[in-house]
Amino acid sequence: MHEVKDDEYNPLTRLCEELHQHVPGLHLWAASLYHGHRPPLLTEVILTQPLRTPPSVTRHVQHQPFMAQGVTVYDYTAAPSPLPCDGLDPRVVRHTGQGHGEGEPGDCEQCGFLVGQILVELGVGGTGSTPGSPRPLQYRDVFILTNVSFLHDAKSDASGQVTRPASGVLRGVREAGIPVTLLESGDEDGVRDVATMAGPDHVIATRCFDVQGLERKVVVWVGGGDGDDEFGRLLAASRCTSQLVLVTPPRREQSDTSSDDDSDCN
Ligand SMILES: [Zn+2]
Repeated sequence: MHEVKDDEYNPLTRLCEELHQHVPGLHLWAASLYHGHRPPLLTEVILTQPLRTPPSVTRHVQHQPFMAQGVTVYDYTAAPSPLPCDGLDPRVVRHTGQGHGEGEPGDCEQCGFLVGQILVELGVGGTGSTPGSPRPLQYRDVFILTNVSFLHDAKSDASGQVTRPASGVLRGVREAGIPVTLLESGDEDGVRDVATMAGPDHVIATRCFDVQGLERKVVVWVGGGDGDDEFGRLLAASRCTSQLVLVTPPRREQSDTSSDDDSDCN
């Protein structure tokens, strides 16, 4: 066993070199490497066919700046044969108008409630299924992803009195009857449970960079806030295997509506 330490320079290169020296006939693959992190011993093959995202989501991903610039992420190539269906059109919740708060979408109860209504429409958490039909969507099939660092859950004192309410988007989703758990940054046990679909059947809300690489059938991207908003949005959308939902601040409206097939509600 080789322990990879964070403070080592390119630990994957050292791991490959040591395995190569000690294991005869070794065949080793690595996937999802960042650009420039490929150990010299490995041959690079770039896979650019979307395997799990439907065309409706793939088009949205290709529309994002990091993708369009072709710098950070390679563009997709066409599927070798036509796919059987286009997939569900992305849904857009606009953080503007009556009932919405003045801050970012992540702290807007109305945005959260509208997201919750969409999840109800999709039948998330439903129990009815007929023999031979796919199982209904579970709450754990849903990610609510953001890059907003202030997303937080309710805090209570020793007496149970709420001293700080949860972020608005979490309050709104719960108001619509959807159970949602916030995965805090640094919660390694929580990430393991999310990766293995363990834990209670809840929607998981978290920062996109804390669960990158994990996919869900329904992904809700809550835009706005600070940092790499556009990259976070690209990361979130490309992890969606069925229904993409975008919660957008007013300043994103124009670029969102320029995407071909988005349908919206507010
Ligand atoms: Zn709102």
